[in-house]
Amino acid sequence: MAKVLLTGGAGYIGSHTAVEFLEAGIDVVVVDNFSNSSPKAIKRVEQITGKSVALYEADVCDKDATRKIFDEHRLDAVVHFAGYKAVGESVKKPVEYYRNNLDSALVVCELMREYDVRGIVFSSSATVYGVSENVPFKEDAPTGGCTNPYGWTKYMIEQILRDYANATPGVSATLLRYFNPVGAHPSGEIGEDPYGEPNNLAPYVCQVAVGRLPLLRVFGNDYPTPDGTGVRDFIHVVDLAKGHVAAFQHMKEGVRTYNLGTGHGYSVFDMINAFKRVNNVEIPYKIVDRRPGDVATSYADPSLANSELEWKATLGLDDMCRDAYNWQRKNPNGYRD
Ligand code: NAD
Ligand code: UDP
Repeated sequence: MAKVLLTGGAGYIGSHTAVEFLEAGIDVVVVDNFSNSSPKAIKRVEQITGKSVALYEADVCDKDATRKIFDEHRLDAVVHFAGYKAVGESVKKPVEYYRNNLDSALVVCELMREYDVRGIVFSSSATVYGVSENVPFKEDAPTGGCTNPYGWTKYMIEQILRDYANATPGVSATLLRYFNPVGAHPSGEIGEDPYGEPNNLAPYVCQVAVGRLPLLRVFGNDYPTPDGTGVRDFIHVVDLAKGHVAAFQHMKEGVRTYNLGTGHGYSVFDMINAFKRVNNVEIPYKIVDRRPGDVATSYADPSLANSELEWKATLGLDDMCRDAYNWQRKNPNGYRD
């Protein structure tokens, strides 16, 4: 049976991806240091799927600790999620971000080389398109011009993986540029569980909906968009997770880059209104100043992934809002209960 290592697999996207791999009949090994997650997420993955996951608590930057996993499992590929991801925090702690994100990626490359593991799928981000608003983004659009250290780590790791795969015959590197993952598994057993006040729109809306936060701040209503609020390509995390299975199943020697998005832009007001309607809840909000660094509009052209990976997002904004709220209501304090 094929086997994949998910670094950072206890996190939000990793845990959903673990479910989809297991349901596709592919074995999963997870390594996580739980710096932004809980081992409970993996227990829930096992409950949902009825299958077991080999779970290791380790820092992927620690090469000896991570080598043990490569030693104990014959891996077909690594899906590399591990990394810090908070944009604002990365501005305040750039060294920690570069250290953790770059070192973990380099350790993965070194161990893949040492153990002749031939496939890597990497969690990149639409943030590599920088401040450009030439939407929809295609994969060959210019990258760089990132507005924060987090974005630069994604840009740099993409380059490291391109160089590594180009220099190493037989290796396949798939760079997946995620747009805005939201929602949760429909079971409500796994979902997004940010520590502290959420930075992103969907978890903020969820916490307002359950009364954990009093009010949503809408960052600007004077953008050149249909209703003045920012427009993003929100994608259901289950669709996104399935994109990783498709990437694994379509691995080919060399480097490939794919946008994972729906191809549709939804505004902040679209999200609030869908959330209210689908869940029959109030979302009190107020308009405040724009958030520095935000672009007006960002959405994907996902046609390359649609054709080459035979993958397409199928869930809509209503599904995202329903499943996100279901998770939040069942787990008002995330995994901390
Ligand atoms: P997350 O924080 O929930 O998951 C990341 C996981 O990696 C966490 O479980 C964390 O504990 C773990 N981790 C961090 N550093 C580690 C290390 N050195 N060793 C072992 N484990 C480590 O984040 P997520 O939303 O699931 O994101 C997964 C990946 O996707 C990240 O690389 C992120 O940058 C990328 N990404 C996320 C988004 C998003 O909006 N969520 C968008 C684009 C890209
Ligand atoms: N946003 C908002 N209030 C919040 C968080 C986000 O109005 O509390 C807006 C933000 O300005 C952007 C959109 O929601 O237009 C998506 O923001 P998010 O941080 O989720 O994603 P990103 O900006 O990284 O694409």
